[in-house]
Amino acid sequence: MKLLDLSSGASYFRSPDAAIAAAITALQEGKTYYGPSEGDATLRQTIAARYAQANVTVAPEQVMVTPGTKHALFNLITVLLREGDEVVIPTPAWFGFYELLKYSKGKLVTIETKQEQNYSLTPDDIRRVLTPNSRILLLTNPGNPTGRIYSKTELESILALLHDFPELYLISDEIYDLDTYGKPFTSALACQGPQERIIVVNGFSKNFAMSGWRIGYMVGPETIVQQSTDFQASTYSGVSQFIQDAAVATLQQQDNALPPMLEVLKENRQLMKEGLSAIPGISFFEPEGAYYFFPDMRAYIGKQNSDGQTIATTQDLCNYLEQQHKLKVANGDLFGGIGHVRMSFAVEKPVLQQAMDKLRNALQQLKPALSTNNK
Ligand code: PMP
Repeated sequence: MKLLDLSSGASYFRSPDAAIAAAITALQEGKTYYGPSEGDATLRQTIAARYAQANVTVAPEQVMVTPGTKHALFNLITVLLREGDEVVIPTPAWFGFYELLKYSKGKLVTIETKQEQNYSLTPDDIRRVLTPNSRILLLTNPGNPTGRIYSKTELESILALLHDFPELYLISDEIYDLDTYGKPFTSALACQGPQERIIVVNGFSKNFAMSGWRIGYMVGPETIVQQSTDFQASTYSGVSQFIQDAAVATLQQQDNALPPMLEVLKENRQLMKEGLSAIPGISFFEPEGAYYFFPDMRAYIGKQNSDGQTIATTQDLCNYLEQQHKLKVANGDLFGGIGHVRMSFAVEKPVLQQAMDKLRNALQQLKPALSTNNK
């Protein structure tokens, strides 16, 4: 039996033809040298133009190209954080943030948001944890793993907090900004707020199925871009030129690649929604963006499998699904959503269909644990 894997953050789609063709051409032209540390001029220009479509004026000098969004984040936490600074992250959030912070001077401060409240995040929720040491408020929009999109009004009310905290920056991770299903998405760059302290990170891994190319970017104040460029020049140099050429072609021809991918994602989202709705005891927030469901599985934690073993934790549930049913999902505890699992619907349709059947069967087989009185 083949493992059905819904745990990955990478989609199954092929990278755009435009990216592949441009990279091959660039390689044949001998573009195998260091790319400029701040990024290729045409790529910076093309990224800036992407925001102009949303009526945001971004100068190419405000854009820096990085080897993945991860590295954009790492650049930023390196240049912004001072000893004792705090990084505020609403949870559930992508576990990669916690991993990155291990290698920084920052101290993680979390704000729990809840499925029952549609993962809402109010300025009051944030204000409660802010201190003079708060340096970065890190939002993910659309959210991974929640799929929550913060509206323009929500973002602007959150950004208003920055006026009371002059040392605080907002970093908005918008890596899933094109994977949306109807609710309008607004970049933090298009919101009212202190522009000198708003930074967006983004990349090609999710929107364009290019995770292995390692390319992303940041858009923010020129001073921060310059400091990050200095850090990147010292550590990484620049993203390979042929990869940057591929990124330019991807953005210029995105209208060919995106609609078919989005069509599949829309259908798959519906399939997963129906599959989850057919399982008793599971509740979930319907994702507005990204490509995951993050269902609450607590109704099944505490039950027993057919061998009489108790599923005591989310990890036990993940192990049970993987080992006994060949279905792999990600443990939501790692994202700060205790008792949840993250399931990607950016997989091939037959895989998704089989996975939903398997999940239903596997959970049906779990029985209430026998209490010790029954022995
Ligand atoms: N931010 C978020 C929210 C992500 O989900 C991921 C990948 N899972 C990343 C950043 C990292 O992206 P990249 O591949 O561009 O480094």
